[in-house]
Formats: sequence, structure tokens, C-alpha cells
Amino acid sequence: MLALVFFPLLWQTAYLIMLATMLMDLDHLLAKPIFDPLRCSVGYHPLHSFYAIPVYGLLLLLPATQMVAVGLLFHLLTDTVDCLWNFSHCRECYLSSRIYALRNRVRQLLGRVKVE
Ligand SMILES: [Zn+2]
Repeated sequence: MLALVFFPLLWQTAYLIMLATMLMDLDHLLAKPIFDPLRCSVGYHPLHSFYAIPVYGLLLLLPATQMVAVGLLFHLLTDTVDCLWNFSHCRECYLSSRIYALRNRVRQLLGRVKVE
């Protein structure tokens, strides 16, 4: 669907490339434990880190890497939705996530008082 919307003329190629971007989950192999259903992968694993995300944004600007960038950013979007769903059932998961740590860091940088 995404391949058809963003790359209607090359949708088959785009589909395969975007499918291949799921390989970014191989970075879970570096974590201990490898799989933790309550852990939010966004901001935690190297290829899901807050440093990697702007790089994927830059890849979006280059025509040669746009398909990969759309796939990677969509992957992160779905992982984020997964995290938010998880947070809605598990407050401790939210409080221990890198998303929460980033939120607090941004609030500090903006001069806002840390609430919790
Ligand atoms: Zn992922």
C-alpha cells in the first residue's frame, strides 16, 4: 500500500525494499534479553535510536535512498504505535522507556519543570 502511494511507477521494487527494511530489527540481537515484550524498541536499539532517526530523515531527501527511508521511517512509526499501546497498559514500561527519558530531557532543555 505504502509502495503504491509513494512510488506508483516502481511499486514492486519499493515494496521489496520496504520489506527489507524490517531487517533493521536485527539490532534486537544485540540486546539482553533479545526479546522483551514490555520494552519499547524506539530509542533503545541502535538502528531505532534517536540518533538514527534524523539520518533516516536525511535519506528521505536523496532520490536514491527514498524507498529505504520511507520503509525505515514507517517501521519506526509502527514501532512507536506499538510502544504507545504498550504504555497505555503498563505505566512502568513508559517510565523506564527512552521515549520518557527523551521527553524529560526536552522539557529540561525548554526550561520546563520536570513533572515526575
Ligand atoms: Zn523495529
